[in-house]
Amino acid sequence: MLKLQVIHYPHPTLRHVSKPLKRVDNELRDMVAQMFDLMYEHEGVGLAANQVDLPYRFFVANPTGDSENQEAEQVFINPVIRSGKGRSGKGQTEGEEGCLSIPGVLGPVVRNERVTVEAYGLTGESFLGEVDGLFARIVQHETDHLDGKLFIDRLAPTQLAEVRDQLEEFEIVFQSKRDCGEMPSDEQIVARIAELEQLRT
Ligand code: ZN
Repeated sequence: MLKLQVIHYPHPTLRHVSKPLKRVDNELRDMVAQMFDLMYEHEGVGLAANQVDLPYRFFVANPTGDSENQEAEQVFINPVIRSGKGRSGKGQTEGEEGCLSIPGVLGPVVRNERVTVEAYGLTGESFLGEVDGLFARIVQHETDHLDGKLFIDRLAPTQLAEVRDQLEEFEIVFQSKRDCGEMPSDEQIVARIAELEQLRT
């Protein structure tokens, strides 16, 4: 079993567009369990597979952020936002977001207040649900991850300028890990991702 870890900006896997999963099996259930553990450990409310360096189209969420509240846990496999997608104007709301892959960086992001999402759960059943408020924000933030998009991409230029120094620090840390051989090269990362994809997409 793979031992998963949360990766940080600007790791290239965060820019990978994930392919749909073909099946649910014990290995996937193990990944999901590890991701919930990591999410709680880092005090998050959602975590997408490419944030743990996996090229798979799924994310986990618990809008309460409370590990004791397992009823609020939800796994979204191959999620598709069916409505409330990307239309500007009506029904949108601005809220502060952060991300476990860019810890400490916060900024206001405009999202749809309500979205309809279709996905598969861990038992392989498909579900279609309407979510709003924080849950809708989580679903949009995590689905963005699966498309290789980060919340900082959605910041207004002035807001992005405010976090530019913090982002540069992440870039420096990443480069120094590369320089001392702790971080694989882009080619190695691409090769590993392709290998993992072949196994289950
Ligand atoms: Zn995130």
